[in-house]
Amino acid sequence: MGDSVGSSVIVTSALRHSYGEGELRSQILHGLDFEVKAGEITLLVGPSGSGKSTLLTLVGALRSVQEGSLQVLGQELQGASEPALKAVRRRIGFIFQSHNLVASLTVLQNVQLVLQLSERNGRRREERAIELLEAVGLGHRLHHYPDELSGGQRQRVAIARALAPEPELILADEPTASLDSQSGRDVVELLGSLCRRRQSAVLLVTHDLRLLNDADRIWRIEDGRVYPWQPEQAA
Ligand code: ADP
Ligand code: MG
Repeated sequence: MGDSVGSSVIVTSALRHSYGEGELRSQILHGLDFEVKAGEITLLVGPSGSGKSTLLTLVGALRSVQEGSLQVLGQELQGASEPALKAVRRRIGFIFQSHNLVASLTVLQNVQLVLQLSERNGRRREERAIELLEAVGLGHRLHHYPDELSGGQRQRVAIARALAPEPELILADEPTASLDSQSGRDVVELLGSLCRRRQSAVLLVTHDLRLLNDADRIWRIEDGRVYPWQPEQAA
């Protein structure tokens, strides 16, 4: 595990992406060069429509790479076979703005659900789910249903669920969008401490500039390109 400290989990080189064809073709990403390292929470900030979600779906192997290089967890995604893409996807945890919890299942059951593939022993599965929910501060809400929780608590269940299969990379798309300022910062701090402890990586995209102080590294996307960014520039 020590070998993975600070190693690159995402590396892009001249990554480009366009939508549409012919006259309607519009280029969104104009050649991105950036990286994300293990053991760090990396923020990608940028205005609405700047291509943050597009980039995240590319990194998550949910959309095919058109031009340039994109290496995720050591696998080049450009031209990769479907089984190779699938294998990468399995090593990634996704957290979206809408947390997509199953309303008819308790908090505990929601997390246990995703462990069903990886852990056949029901008792171990329950222990792991409880451990994760305690780590996100929800040990006292195990048997509640999602609609009995606050927005911040639901998002923390979604985090526990994304972390359950022990992904090496977490991709989070505006996970704090529906939260008040304090809950948003709590979520980022929690993701940061969990990824540092596990030496996994988090790439969180947001247009919420209040989160900048809680990241290890910040990139800014603007006009289809990315730039390293210092929080002082936000002031
Ligand atoms: P962000 O997440 O930063 O708000 P997006 O990646 O969602 O930005 O979108 C970037 C640009 O690409 C926007 O102008 C958006 O309208 C456009 N876009 C996003 N998805 C599609 C799509 N599937 N087809 C065509 N255009 C799209
Ligand atoms: Mg978006």
